[in-house]
Amino acid sequence: MESFLAGKLTDNKSLIELLRRSGVLKSPRVAEAMEQIDRALFVKEKKYAYMDHPSPIGFNATISAPHMHALCLELLQNHLKPGIHALDVGSGTGYLTACFAIMTGPEARVVGVEHIPELVEGSIENVKASKAAPMLESGRLSLHVGDGRLGWPDEAPYDAIHVGAASSKVPNALLEQLKPGGRMVIPVGDEFQELRVIDKQTDGSVKEWCKADVRYVPLTDKKEQLNE
Ligand code: SAH
Repeated sequence: MESFLAGKLTDNKSLIELLRRSGVLKSPRVAEAMEQIDRALFVKEKKYAYMDHPSPIGFNATISAPHMHALCLELLQNHLKPGIHALDVGSGTGYLTACFAIMTGPEARVVGVEHIPELVEGSIENVKASKAAPMLESGRLSLHVGDGRLGWPDEAPYDAIHVGAASSKVPNALLEQLKPGGRMVIPVGDEFQELRVIDKQTDGSVKEWCKADVRYVPLTDKKEQLNE
């Protein structure tokens, strides 16, 4: 997908407004969540906080571009309802996990899993500084160190699963942890990938379609990611 925003943006509200005008951001619920979660709290390079680009976060990882966050939230929004269970695999900075929490309210359970401990620590600090802090304090939002390919069985099954790193095939554990009626959004492929939308039907069968061609960092072993 093209980057729509070229100019210098100085605040989060202007970024959201431009994403709305570009057409990627459609639903008021998604716009409100992205407005409440200030992207500048989650990026390292603050001067690029409101640009529509991915931005390095260390450990060979990046925070996704705002239009990708918007697209994934739009794809999942009908499943991110109050009280649901949601899983963010490869939660990185915690940005999307925080948006999930804003969208799902105080009865929901939102889990982020990330395999780099330093990123998890950083994401906890980011969320603490954001409007999702009360959800972290109440334990409704939690961020864990773990191999996201195994999902997070403790809070399964999930109504919504987002995977923020690309896998050559959809991990079985994630399919198993998706609730009947639930939806997973996951980049699938090696160097070039498709953003796939996977809907588990109420009878347990799966319907799958491709939303866009994308490029994400791989869902992999920690050692491989760190070139160790
Ligand atoms: N969605 C996040 C981060 C995207 S980058 C954001 O926008 O901030 C992808 C993340 O997936 C990286 O932080 C990387 O460390 C993580 N990752 C890669 N393989 C993983 C695995 N097997 N288990 C958990 N996290 C993984």
